[in-house]
Amino acid sequence: MPTPFKLAPLPWDEDTLAPVISANTISLHYHKHHQSYVDTLNKLVDGSNYADMTLEEVVQKTAASGEAKDKQIFNNAAQTWNHDFYWRSLTPFKTKPGAQLDSAIAAAFGTKDALIVQLAEAGKTQFGSGWAWLVSKGGKLSIEKTPDAETPMAKGTNCLLAVDVWEHAYYLDYQNARPKYLAAVLSKILNWDFAAENLNKEEHAVRAAAE
Ligand code: MN
Repeated sequence: MPTPFKLAPLPWDEDTLAPVISANTISLHYHKHHQSYVDTLNKLVDGSNYADMTLEEVVQKTAASGEAKDKQIFNNAAQTWNHDFYWRSLTPFKTKPGAQLDSAIAAAFGTKDALIVQLAEAGKTQFGSGWAWLVSKGGKLSIEKTPDAETPMAKGTNCLLAVDVWEHAYYLDYQNARPKYLAAVLSKILNWDFAAENLNKEEHAVRAAAE
């Protein structure tokens, strides 16, 4: 009997991101959309080798496969991971990048505002459903956008922040105005502590590998 993948708890109360994201949106997004990716994933991997892997391993192994069943598993595993990462990328509290992330931001973008402009542009120009990301490769920051369930993590890229730009993430609160959702989220509720932690983990991994 494999251990089923679990819906990780939200890191804050459902109503605390309002008015940027309403409790209604969070509730539907988490209890319906996110939960359904987890449930579908568990059904798809039941009795297979994937049931004994970590979520990250499932995403990375199925990302490279050309099999239709693996593609279904990939979509649900990646969406399970992406949503958990997205929740942790948001916070109702005031957070700051801190010294290490500040200097990485300065090197790559000049200023945090310039980073936010590029991240908003990535989210706005992602055609159809998908994600906008702040990532780091060897400590060098960049912005990526991915369609549907695709995730930079599938290729082992270190993700710092994720923003969901599927319509279900904003339609109840902003209707078709994705740029308004992005402007509010990026200026008010990004979790810079989480981004800094993720950058720090990579630096530790690089140092450990070099020793
Ligand atoms: Mn979503």
